[in-house]
Amino acid sequence: MMKRIYADYAASTPLCEPAIQAIGQAISYYGNPSEAHAEGRNARSLLHTAKQQVADAIGAKPDEIYFTSGGTEADNWALRGIAESRKKKGKHIITSSIEHHAVLNTAVSLEKMGYQVTYLPVNRCGQVNPDDVRTALRSDTILISVMTANNEVGTIQPIEEIGEIAYQAGVPFHTDAVQAIGHIPIRVHQLPVDLLSISAHKFGGPKGIGALYIQKETASIAPLLFGGAQEAGHRAGTENILGITAMGAAVQWAIQNIASTDQLQRMTRYLTDGILEIPGATLTGHPDHRIPGTASFLFQGVEGASLVALLDREGLAASSRAACSRHTLGASHVLRAMGYQELQAIGALRLSLGWGNTMADIPIIVHAVKEAVHELRAP
Ligand code: PLP
Repeated sequence: MMKRIYADYAASTPLCEPAIQAIGQAISYYGNPSEAHAEGRNARSLLHTAKQQVADAIGAKPDEIYFTSGGTEADNWALRGIAESRKKKGKHIITSSIEHHAVLNTAVSLEKMGYQVTYLPVNRCGQVNPDDVRTALRSDTILISVMTANNEVGTIQPIEEIGEIAYQAGVPFHTDAVQAIGHIPIRVHQLPVDLLSISAHKFGGPKGIGALYIQKETASIAPLLFGGAQEAGHRAGTENILGITAMGAAVQWAIQNIASTDQLQRMTRYLTDGILEIPGATLTGHPDHRIPGTASFLFQGVEGASLVALLDREGLAASSRAACSRHTLGASHVLRAMGYQELQAIGALRLSLGWGNTMADIPIIVHAVKEAVHELRAP
């Protein structure tokens, strides 16, 4: 390959142009947004604008958006905050076995504190069955948390149905929408969703900034961080004005560009058809209910990490699984939960396309993967 091709948008994205411009402007707004002077007020006005932009992007009200240090903090806060504030009501939480580790490891930490967690199974396509949610409900269930779209295989969950079950049972519903915002339309007030996690670096914003949407009527949620009275007393810490401003600009841009997901879908289909020509290749995840740019594959007899390393040498940035799982050896928990054997589940290659890719990239990517698989299979 002559030039490098980036096909790892599900791990992180480049900054989009509006985010770069927003950072450039925000650099001179150095005041502390909690202060009463003009410098503070100026910084505060950026904060308010960004809150409005994020709220508009998901159909929420600005005072339902709380900025966090990213998707991980938003997930931790949703689980720990509800667990703490509802502990007198019960100590049972329902989640799925294919969540991001920001949810799974928080659930494990809560188990160590005496909470009980039901990890719902998924089918071969990586989808939770809403009937399983209904069956798992108990009188002491205090939270249901099921992600909107999976980061490894791209499968979209039936969150309307799951949210409806939660609503009928009077149990708050949290969804990790980190992989969904900016990729599929989400209007929180049309969904039975109480809490929703967002991360800016998945849609053209910077890393280290995200938000938790908390529906206004949701029973109070305990804070995760203690300190000052920022974010209406719910999330302490001087606000990351640069990140927040860039996140607001990026989400507005991403939502406007959702219209171009048709093109992304066409590119992903073209890519998938090409990759599936490789003997022993399988597409994982749901064939239709999936994030437009993400496609994950297994190749018989090939180890995913070696494939990614070889492709990187050839100029293609791809991933074998979630970026944060890369440091944990072993098969993907997502593929294992989907019923793949340990040996199969170490062979994953995730290709995730974005706005920087063109149709011309696809034959180059397909060719590189074909060659690399061939080389790794050679005796
Ligand atoms: N949830 C999902 C589904 C993700 O894909 C990620 C990041 O990969 C996170 C949470 C964590 O977000 P952040 O990197 O902003 O902490």
